[in-house]
Amino acid sequence: MGSVSAAPTALRAATNAEMPLPMITEPAVSFVEIETLRAREFVPAAKEALGSMLSEQAQGKLIRPMFNWAGRNSLFPLHWGLACCAIEFAAAFGARWDAERFGVVPRSSPRQCDLLIVNGTVTWKVAHKLIALYEQMPEPKWVIAMGNCATGGGPFRTAYSVVPGVDKLVPVDVYIAGCPPRPEALLDGILRLEQLIKERKE
Ligand code: SF4
Repeated sequence: MGSVSAAPTALRAATNAEMPLPMITEPAVSFVEIETLRAREFVPAAKEALGSMLSEQAQGKLIRPMFNWAGRNSLFPLHWGLACCAIEFAAAFGARWDAERFGVVPRSSPRQCDLLIVNGTVTWKVAHKLIALYEQMPEPKWVIAMGNCATGGGPFRTAYSVVPGVDKLVPVDVYIAGCPPRPEALLDGILRLEQLIKERKE
């Protein structure tokens, strides 16, 4: 019996000697306080709390990759459609293409979303609504311009009423070409965004 329990103890001692635990101090912000924070305050507070517990080297190797991993595998796009491209957006979440297998789940409130997929013709009349929705989304957040209209005005680029590209209103991370782009193109754009999030440093 004694020899059976001695082996794990020796193993633990050896492991601890080679890989000292990175925790060095108590967290600056208690986890109970963090639970009461609103979404836009949560990530900075959680980073500060975790950062105060870990060595500088462990922060770079653990916290950023952990947040990136969680963010890219649980993207919540806003349930919002503007024109014909929105039909392709809807199809991407149907049974055939099943975008939810990538952890992408459309939500109906911008306060619960971190991804704005602009999928259609943006007119100047609706521009302030689009900006308001974007502003209501918590950080960190991303934007995909889906289709030629959202990317650069598409076939209506010269119309007085059409915004010649949604990047005139909000910062765009991924552009998807096509009129309309097929659901596969949207899935490709989402996977490219996930790659961007994976490589994110700040
Ligand atoms: S890019 Fe083409 S399909 Fe998409 S909203 Fe514009 S006109 Fe419609």
